This record gives sequence, C-alpha cells and structure tokens, in this order.
Amino acid sequence: MATIAVIGAGPSGCSAGYHLAKSGHQVTLIDKNRFPRDKVCGDGISLESIQALSTMGIYPQDLKKLIVDYAPVHRFFLGVSNQISHSEATSLEAYCIPRFVFDQLLYEKAIDVGCVPLTQTISKKDGHLQTLSREFDYLIDARGVSAGEVTAIAIRSYWSFDRQDLSEVDLTEAQIHFDHHLGVNGYGWIFPVATQGEVVKFNVGVGVWMDEYQKINTNVIQLFKEFIQSNKQTAHLLSKVLHQETPKVYPLATAKKGNQVADGNILKIGDAANLTDPLTGEGIANAVLSGLYAAQAINMSRSPEMAAENWQYLYEARFEADLRAGLRIRAFRKFSFMNTLLIRVMKHNPRVAAQVSHAVAGLVPYHEVLSSLRY
Ligand SMILES: Cc1cc2nc3c(=O)[nH]c(=O)nc-3n(C[C@H](O)[C@H](O)[C@H](O)COP(=O)(O)OP(=O)(O)OC[C@H]3O[C@@H](n4cnc5c(N)ncnc54)[C@H](O)[C@@H]3O)c2cc1C
Repeated sequence: MATIAVIGAGPSGCSAGYHLAKSGHQVTLIDKNRFPRDKVCGDGISLESIQALSTMGIYPQDLKKLIVDYAPVHRFFLGVSNQISHSEATSLEAYCIPRFVFDQLLYEKAIDVGCVPLTQTISKKDGHLQTLSREFDYLIDARGVSAGEVTAIAIRSYWSFDRQDLSEVDLTEAQIHFDHHLGVNGYGWIFPVATQGEVVKFNVGVGVWMDEYQKINTNVIQLFKEFIQSNKQTAHLLSKVLHQETPKVYPLATAKKGNQVADGNILKIGDAANLTDPLTGEGIANAVLSGLYAAQAINMSRSPEMAAENWQYLYEARFEADLRAGLRIRAFRKFSFMNTLLIRVMKHNPRVAAQVSHAVAGLVPYHEVLSSLRY
C-alpha cells in the first residue's frame, strides 16, 4: 500500500482521498483552510454532479437531508437576451447548496474512511511540492484553480428577498443568461439557494472567459453591474431585493487543449487539471470523477511512472472528448447570432430543447448535442 498526500480538500481532493483510503492506502488530506470553509461558486449541483457523487456513496437522499433549507431545482432557463429565452422543466431534481455546507459533506466522507486531515499551505514558491513528492509515494494536486491555468473570471453575490415577493417558478428555476454585453463568451446566472424561510436567498453572478474579458476592456465588477441593471430578470429581482452581499471575484480553470495532467509522481485533478466545463463554468462533477479515476490509475499501476501514464490515458478517454466538444460549441458562439438561432430552434423542437437544457445541466454530453443538431 502507498503513502499518498492529497493537497486540497475540495470536491476533487475529497473524492481522491475517499477512494484511495478505501483501497487501503495511507492518505494525508492537506488543506490550507480549516473545514468547514467557503468557496466562491454558483453553488449549482448539476444533474451530472449528482450522478458523480454516487461514486462516493452520496445519494440524492443525502443531499435532500442537507437541503432542508436549500433549494431543489425543477426547471432550467436559458436566455440569450431580454427578448428570447427558453425554460425547460426537468423530471430530475438538481440542487443549489452553498459550498460551505456541501464541501463539508464530502470532507466528512473522506475523513470517515480513514484520510488523515492536516491544515497546511503547500506553496508553489519554496519547492514545498517537490519536497513532499519525495516524502510520499504519490501526490495528488487538488489545489483548485491556484494550481491550474486561469482561463476565466467570475463574480458572485448573494441576494435576499421576502419570500412572498417571489413566484414558485422564481424559487425553483436555475437561470443561465448569455447576454450580448457580457461578450460572446460570457454568461450570467441566477440560482435560488436557500428558499424555505420567510427570507430567501439567491446566488447571482457573471463569468467571462479571459480572451473575451481582455477584449471587452472593462472590469468584472462593472460587467456584473451592467448585467444586473440591463437584464430583465435581474432588474425584476433587483426591484424587490432586501439585501445584496458584496460580490466576490474568483478565477476559473476551464478546459484547455493539449492538457498534461501528470508529472512524475504528481497527479493533477479537478480545477488543478483544468477540468471545468468550458461553456457553463461547472466543475464539481468533473472534480469528483477525476478523483475517482486518478485513484483508479494508482490502484492499477505498479509504479508512479505507470500511474502517471494511466491517469493521462483515463483523462483523455473519460473527459477530453466532451471538453473538446464544449470548446467547439463555445467557438460557434463567437458568432453571436448562433445563440439566438439555437434558442429559436429549441422553441420549435422539444427534442433539441431537452437535449440542450440537459447538456447545460450536465446530463447529456456536448458531443451528443452536436450530433442532434446535425441531423
Ligand atoms: C464564481 C464561480 C462559480 C462557479 N459555479 C459553479 C457551479 O454553480 N457549479 C459547479 O459545478 N461548479 C461551479 N464552479 C466551479 C467549481 O467551483 C470548481 O470547478 C470546483 O470547486 C473544483 O473543485 P476542486 O476540488 O478541484 O477545487 P476547489 O473546490 O477550489 O478546492 C481546492 C482546495 O484546495 C485548497 N488549497 C488551495 N491552495 C492550497 C495550497 N496552496 N495548499 C493547501 N491547500 C490549498 C483550497 O483551500 C480548497 O479547499 C464555479 C466557479 C466559480 C469561480
């Protein structure tokens, strides 16, 4: 059995730690923060994330226990401007759960199966990672975007409302907006989070890809302000808001081409391996699954070199095709009329509408959507 340090106890690190400790390895789970801790996020636990969590023995009933106060999602809304949008009901529930609560559930799972927790910052500068890589048989680098390549930037705020000012649809619909002024590769979201009390809470934010962001020549706080003032849905919510938290800015590590996920005995997973969805910025599902596959790569290998090769193979086999399809769809969006055209097609073709909505929710792979649009 091997000695393994997993650095970062977000969804990817907890997943890797869980599977490796269950296989009998001696796992130290290191994080710079004490848990529970917050992570700036849209808090959307997509249908794909829910499926991925079952690999860690976390099922919808476990999430339901957590969401006494939090929100189940029954509809997905896609809008490209104030004029055109599509709302699709789903028979499967997704959830919006603050990361402070959600990540703690995964952390406890990893500790319960034997991971030894350690609070420590493993910095890039002082050769700390290399020193650790000599002390342990394997390092799993799960430090999130700080260890990956920053490809996008996002901003998130929480807004509170009086429950009676909102409709049932407001409280159960996850909305994604591709508004023109966010640039052709930017997006805004409105997710209901805590919806049970008299005062309910929404997660509202904007994300934009670095190449677009540099072209727009503005800052993300300004972009967020413009989005909430000009978008019909946010303007409607803004007129009723009781309290707005100061927005927080955070980078993202979305998919990139030619991605190398292993180096010697160091295997990168989650955001550290740029596994976030290149269209929606959703990263929890791939974070959880990458922890599983990196653990499998170690379990099926006789040496660190073989594990590195096997993890690179599994990354290419399990993630790359869909991430590439996502990048291809993103490239289409640079012709902004494509967004409008897609929503028009969705309005007239229920099958395409369901495919696209479920792809954005993470249930249908992007390459299947590309095929369904072709025929
Ligand atoms: C604004 C925003 C909105 C998003 N919305 C969604 C969404 O709605 N749904 C979704 O699925 N995804 C969303 N994402 C993406 C999602 O947050 C990430 O993909 C996901 O958190 C990746 O998990 P991870 O475990 O790889 O990294 P993280 O969750 O970032 O965890 C990394 C861990 O490493 C620790 N760490 C970092 N540096 C060090 C260090 N030097 N030493 C020790 N420990 C360290 C951190 O404390 C942290 O606990 C969003 C991202 C952003 C920025």
